[in-house]
Amino acid sequence: MSTLSIQNLAVVVGEQQILKGVDLEISSGQVHAVMGPNGAGKSTLSNVIMGKPGYQITSGSIELDGRDLSSLPTWERAQAGLFLAMQYPTEVPGVSVRETLELALRSRGADHIDVASRLDEEADQIGLPKELLERALNVDFSGGEKKRNETAQLAVLTPEIAVLDELDSGLDIDALRACAERIEAMTNDGLGVLCITHYHRLLDHLIADYVHILVDGQIVESGGPELAQELEDDGYSRFVDADEETAGVSVAIGGRSETKNAAVSDSEDPFADPLA
Ligand code: ADP
Ligand code: MG
Repeated sequence: MSTLSIQNLAVVVGEQQILKGVDLEISSGQVHAVMGPNGAGKSTLSNVIMGKPGYQITSGSIELDGRDLSSLPTWERAQAGLFLAMQYPTEVPGVSVRETLELALRSRGADHIDVASRLDEEADQIGLPKELLERALNVDFSGGEKKRNETAQLAVLTPEIAVLDELDSGLDIDALRACAERIEAMTNDGLGVLCITHYHRLLDHLIADYVHILVDGQIVESGGPELAQELEDDGYSRFVDADEETAGVSVAIGGRSETKNAAVSDSEDPFADPLA
C-alpha cells in the first residue's frame, strides 16, 4: 500500500505563480482524475511531481509514503515508485524502446530474459507493433504509438503511482480504449493513478474514484465521477465563475485572468487543438 501525498503545493515557473496551494492524496488502487481548462496548471502539477527542472516549490510538500520527494532527482523518484506518462513524450534518437526499458528494469534487478518476454507480452497486449520496440524511443512515432508505448512502459515498470498527463491526447478511439483498459486492469492490481484529462471518454474505461477540478492553479471542487459528466455537459463555466470572485486578487498577483479567460473559451471551442 502506497500513498502519494501532495499538501498545499505552490509552484512558481519563471516569474509566474502557477500552482497556488494544491492538496491531493492518491493511494494504491485509487484513480484520481484532475480536469481543468487549458493553462490551469495540470502539466505543471505532473512535472513538479516527477521533478522536472525549472519548477520552484514555494510552499507545501510532495511525499511518497512519508518520504519527502521534493529534493530528489527524477530518477530517484522513479525508483521510489513514481511514473509519468508525458503529454508530449520525449523523442530520444539513438536509444531504442527495448534498450530503454531493459536498462530501467535491470537497474531494479530484473534479468535479461524476463525483461524481453515481459516487453513482448505487453506490446502484444496494448497493440504496439513489435518492430517499434527496436526503433528509437518516440522518434517519428504516431500520436497513438507514443501513448501505447507510454502505456506499455507503465505496465512493464509496474510503479506504485502513475501520473498520466493527457494520455488521451492524440489517441484514436481504439487506442484510447486499449490504453485505458490496460491501466484500469493495473489499478485492480494496486496501481494508484493521477489521471489528467480534458475528456470524460477516458474515464469511461479508466474508472475514476475521485474527480478534481483545477482552475488557475487551485483545486476548486472535488467529487465523484458525476463531476466529469457535469463538465462534459456544461463545460467549466460554473467553476470559473465561482473563481472569478477572486479574480481581482489573481490579477494583482500575476495578471493571469486574461490567460484564464482565453483558456476557458479554448476549452469550449469544439475546434480547439486537443493537444494544447
Ligand atoms: P495545463 O497543462 O493545465 O494546460 P500548464 O501547466 O502546461 O497548463 O501551464 C500552466 C501555465 O504555466 C501556462 O500559462 C504556461 O504557459 C505556464 N508555464 C508552464 N511551463 C512554463 C515554463 N517552463 N515557463 C514559463 N511558463 C510556463
Ligand atoms: Mg497540459
